[in-house]
Amino acid sequence: MNKQKLLASLPSVDEILKSEKGAKWQKTFPRRYVLQSIRDTIDDYRQSILKDSRKEFSLEEMLVDVQRHIEKRSELSLKPVINATGIVIHTNLGRSVLSEKVLENVKRIACSYSNLEYELEQGTRGKRYSHVQRLLNDLTGAESSLIVNNNAAAVFVCLAALAKGKEVIVSRGELVEIGGSFRIPDVMSSSGAVLKEIGTTNKTHLHDYENAINENTGLLLKVHQSNFRIVGFTKEVGIEELATLGKKHNVPVMFDLGSGCLVDLKPYGIHIEPTVQDIVKAGTDIVTFSGDKLLGGPQGGIIVGKSELIDIIAKNPLMRAVRIDKMTLAAFEAILMSYLDEETAKKNIPTVRMLLQDIEEIHARAKKIAAQLKKDLGTAHEEAASVAVVEDASQSGGGALAEVEFKTYAVAVKPVQLSANKLEERLRLGKPPVIARIKEDALILDARTIRDNEIADLVKGIRAALL
Ligand SMILES: *Cc1c(COP(=O)(O)O)cnc(C)c1O
Repeated sequence: MNKQKLLASLPSVDEILKSEKGAKWQKTFPRRYVLQSIRDTIDDYRQSILKDSRKEFSLEEMLVDVQRHIEKRSELSLKPVINATGIVIHTNLGRSVLSEKVLENVKRIACSYSNLEYELEQGTRGKRYSHVQRLLNDLTGAESSLIVNNNAAAVFVCLAALAKGKEVIVSRGELVEIGGSFRIPDVMSSSGAVLKEIGTTNKTHLHDYENAINENTGLLLKVHQSNFRIVGFTKEVGIEELATLGKKHNVPVMFDLGSGCLVDLKPYGIHIEPTVQDIVKAGTDIVTFSGDKLLGGPQGGIIVGKSELIDIIAKNPLMRAVRIDKMTLAAFEAILMSYLDEETAKKNIPTVRMLLQDIEEIHARAKKIAAQLKKDLGTAHEEAASVAVVEDASQSGGGALAEVEFKTYAVAVKPVQLSANKLEERLRLGKPPVIARIKEDALILDARTIRDNEIADLVKGIRAALL
C-alpha cells in the first residue's frame, strides 16, 4: 500500500472509541486517559508511516498499543517494591514497614469518626496528643511528650519555642547534615535561634560548653552524629555530664537522637546506641527522635521531656503547622502498645524484627530463594545464571548504627547472557520492582529485608529478567 492510502486508512479516535474494546476501556479506565491514549497511538502510527518505518498495520495491533498506553497512564505512581538491599531503614524506599496489625488500627480510626480531639467523659474539646502521651511517658520514663510531623520538625519547633533569639551551644563535631538538606546550622537559623559553635571537629570538652554559657544561652544541644563518625583522637561530652552542667547553670539540655531506639540492643552485641530511656534517665530535658527509623512506626517526630518545657513547645503556633493526622496517631498508638512488651515488639514490628532476626532464619530464607530460583529456571539454569547463597553484611540505614555491620545471607545471581547491570535494571523496572545491589558482577539479593510473602514474586521476576 502506498503512503497516502495507508495514512487515509488510519482509524479515527471516534471509531476506536466506539469499538468493542473502546467501550470496555471506558468502563474500567478514566475516559480522559482512554482518549489521550487513542490519540497518542494514532499519532505514533502516523509518524511511523510518514517516516517509512511502517509499511502496513492491523487494527488489532493498534488496539493492543492503545491498551498498553492506557495501562501505563492509569498505573498508580506510588507502588510497593521488594527491598533486596538489606538496608532495613531505607529512606528512599519508605523507611519502616508497618504491620497489618498497626494498619488495622489505622483503618479503624480513618474510616470512622473518632474522639481525636474530643473528651468523651466531659463532652468537651480534647487534646490530640493525649492518646499517646501516657504510653510515651511510660515507655521512655519522661514526664511529658508530643508527636509532630517528623524529627526535623521536632528539632525545629523545639528550637523555635525554647531558644528563639537566644544562643544554642553545639559542638563543632555535631554540626551534621542529614540527607535531604537537614543541616543543623540551617535549621538553627531558620528557627530564629543563634548557633554558638564550640570545640573543634574532633574534640569538644565540658569546659568548652561551660565557657560558652552566658545570660543569653537558651539551650545546650547535643546532636546524634547519625551516619558519620569521627575516629581516632576524639573527645565528646556525654549526655550525663552535659545534663549536670545544664542543671548547674539552669539551662535546658536537648538531645536530637535521630533514630531513637526503645529496645536495649546490648544483648545483641550493639553497645553504641543508648535507648531513649537511658537518655531521659541521664537527666536530658528534651529528647527528639524519628518515628519511622529504629522505632519502626510511621513518619513522625517524637518529643519527650520535662513537662514544663513540653508545655511551652505545645503552645508554640508552629505546632499547628507540624501536627500529625489521625492516621499517624492511630499507627503510633498501636506501635507503642507493642513496645510495652519487648518480645511482642520484636515479633510485631517489622523494622525491629528485621534488624534483630536470627541469622539462621535469614540463612534459611536465602537458601529457600536460591532453591526456588534454580527450580523455576529448570534446565535453563546453567546457561542463564549462576545462583549461590553467600555470606554478606547488611546495614540498618536511617542514620542509625552507622558502623554496625549485621551479618547476613544473600542470594548472588550472576547472569551468563547479560550483564549484572542489565539484570539490575530489568528487576528495577519489573512488576513489582525489585531493588538490589551489584557486587563483583553479581546481583546481590539480601534475604534480611525480603519478606516471606514476596519470595514467589521475586523468583518470578528474576526468572523473567534472565530468560
Ligand atoms: C534522621 C535524623 C533527623 C531527621 O529526622 P526525620 O524524621 O527524617 O525528619 C534529624 N536529626 C538526626 C540526628 C537524624 O538522624
